[in-house]
Amino acid sequence: MSVIRSLSEVRGTLPEGVTLVAVSKTHPVELIREAYDAGQRIFGESRPQELKAKYEALPRDIEWHMIGHLQTNKVKYIAPFVAMIESVDSLRLAEAIQKEAAKCGRRIDVLLEIHVAAEQTKSGWDFDELLECVRSGAFRQLPDVVVRGVMGIATNTEDEARVRADFERLRGCFGQLRPLFDERFDVLSMGMSHDYRLAVACGSTMVRVGSLIFGARDYADR
Ligand SMILES: *Cc1c(COP(=O)(O)O)cnc(C)c1O
Repeated sequence: MSVIRSLSEVRGTLPEGVTLVAVSKTHPVELIREAYDAGQRIFGESRPQELKAKYEALPRDIEWHMIGHLQTNKVKYIAPFVAMIESVDSLRLAEAIQKEAAKCGRRIDVLLEIHVAAEQTKSGWDFDELLECVRSGAFRQLPDVVVRGVMGIATNTEDEARVRADFERLRGCFGQLRPLFDERFDVLSMGMSHDYRLAVACGSTMVRVGSLIFGARDYADR
């Protein structure tokens, strides 16, 4: 199926108020351009250098979201232009983003990635540690890091009850954190190709859909 068709099918299933991040990692700029021409403006990537190369090759009104694990020493590649870093999983990373944001005179929107999946290999905060960190006031020391909400990945399983429980947990975390930030904290990013409909039913406001739009990737873990 063409990108244009699959994109419009996915869009057709999303209620108003749910933002679609088209996850284009590993896919060539030509495919991204097709989606762009069909009106898509928000794209997600998981590697900083790849993100930078695509930013340079494509129109400037694209909003690029970093969704993969980010090393502190790579923040500099994307800080000048990235629209949102969804994968903030440590205070150290948030501090590195603050430093680079200040250098380029920008404010950078971020999401706090919370670990809810059964797989230990997945990244993200332990929620209790995150809560403690937020309550300590650490994020108030980072004026150019704008915490917009929460991101999470559900367990990769056929067991729908488990996936639903993960999404509900994320929504609970979102609700608990919300009063600790200002009114800009309004994003709950959850749901990928295989589970985004369930995520939306559980209150997601942002879905990150890749393979359903662009087709399968060569490397399953990217
Ligand atoms: C790759 C990726 C996605 C998209 O996955 P698909 O299954 O292709 O939709 C979403 N979120 C994150 C964090 C990813 O790394």
